Amino acid sequence: MAHWMEVGQDNYVLTTEGSHLNTGLIVGSERAMVIDTGCGPRHGREILAAVREKTHLPLVVVNTHAHYDHFFGNAVFADAGVTEFWAHEQCAKQIDERGDLQRREVTTVEPEMADSVGDAVELVVPNAIVRDQPVLVNLGNTSATLFYLGRGHTDGDLLVGSATALFVGDLVEHGTYPSFEDSYPKEWADALRHISALRHRYSFLVPGHGEPCTDQFVKTMANTLSTAIRQARQSLRDTPDDATKAIPILPYGPEQSRWFIKRLKETSV
Ligand SMILES: [Zn+2]
Repeated sequence: MAHWMEVGQDNYVLTTEGSHLNTGLIVGSERAMVIDTGCGPRHGREILAAVREKTHLPLVVVNTHAHYDHFFGNAVFADAGVTEFWAHEQCAKQIDERGDLQRREVTTVEPEMADSVGDAVELVVPNAIVRDQPVLVNLGNTSATLFYLGRGHTDGDLLVGSATALFVGDLVEHGTYPSFEDSYPKEWADALRHISALRHRYSFLVPGHGEPCTDQFVKTMANTLSTAIRQARQSLRDTPDDATKAIPILPYGPEQSRWFIKRLKETSV
């Protein structure tokens, strides 16, 4: 069952079943902000219905990054009248250029997404763009700050800070290994240190999946990542022809370790 958690006054997190995606909700006096829309029309409708239990205000949407479970639900919100979809410019670009390639990832849970024509299955590319400078989005009696800390989980991770909570997307995942497929490991560690340093400004730190976490959790994640980078680099120096040698010593599962090594090699100059 999906469930709501309160993270400060008028701030909420909806955790839905399956991947335990966290959708943020910040309710102002004039508008409310929804952070991440789910992996297709079914998930999107579930999220929208839950949001409507909390507020009937006009909505704005934020996509934290260009992974299907965070933006495939956009069309449901567009059909419900939402016109303002925020994202980092790289995220919008990825959705526009490569969003369709992710359709195959969801066809078991969202069979309608196999087709680009149908009810709420079209890609909705974010049209309100954040670049390097933070953007303040006014919701009436409160506002949300959208900002970018550099590349990390992807090349376009957007963070959302409210009066009480910091929503960090998949820069932090709780209860599972980090996902390295589109990541920039070295820069990700830097972004995590930045997040843990910001922590005193927020009472709640909300990851993209799993329970809210502490700044200590984020700091540990950063340290683990830095250690893994050192270990993998050493291993690549020792056995340059066999990158898989590093897999057993890395602090991640075999699948994610493989991606980690691949991305470390691709993103190191
Ligand atoms: Zn992701």
